[in-house]
Amino acid sequence: MTEGEVERSVSRGFMTIPIYADDSYISEFDATVIREGPRFVVLDKTAFYPESGGQPSDTGLLRHGSQTVRVFKVLRRGRDIFHYIDSDLPKGAAVHGVLDWDERFLNMRRHSAEHLLSGLFERAGAGPKVYSDMKRIEFKPSDLTEDGVRQVEAWFNEAVDADIPIRIYYAARSELDVGDDERKRMFLQKIPRSVERLRMVEIPDYDLNFCFGTHVRSTGEIGHLAELELVEGKKGRRVVLFTLE
Ligand SMILES: [Zn+2]
Repeated sequence: MTEGEVERSVSRGFMTIPIYADDSYISEFDATVIREGPRFVVLDKTAFYPESGGQPSDTGLLRHGSQTVRVFKVLRRGRDIFHYIDSDLPKGAAVHGVLDWDERFLNMRRHSAEHLLSGLFERAGAGPKVYSDMKRIEFKPSDLTEDGVRQVEAWFNEAVDADIPIRIYYAARSELDVGDDERKRMFLQKIPRSVERLRMVEIPDYDLNFCFGTHVRSTGEIGHLAELELVEGKKGRRVVLFTLE
């Protein structure tokens, strides 16, 4: 079974095989419409990532014969992945999907940077992470200093230069040891009991987390930081803003 099939069968019960889970570098694919409605379709498989975990949905095109429709949003709804489109396609239609690749690849780089930064700020003793997305990470309680941020910036750029492969694998929930990490324990508790296998994303020696998002193959693909800025957040949060070169 491929990773996508595992994710479909055990973790979310998808009707749609999420082929982005097997290979996040697939930018074009062939599929069949298995459910249709006004301005949406569900496909038997898809490389379009549905908005989740702070990562936005992909956009792109679906071609069917001479017809081309625009995919402007992709969302999980129960067991299906819905592609919201600007016109209609019939059930049974064979389609060729094309992602807006530049945008997706940038999202993959930013999201992978978020993983790497999370691991490095943990190493720097920044305190519990209470929020993160592809532009910012928030800690509370935290006494993170400017020196700490500059240390993380140096480590980040070293990790990028070392071009470390990012590993994706599945682990049984029961075998997972999150130790005393309260944040990871809370995260686990939020995942439905029916989800027994978790998709693990590991940057060896830097970060290990459960995540269904899309990631680059290695830290070299992330690229160096353009900016890493420490600002004061609301309610005593320390906030770090980041952008990539
Ligand atoms: Zn991730």
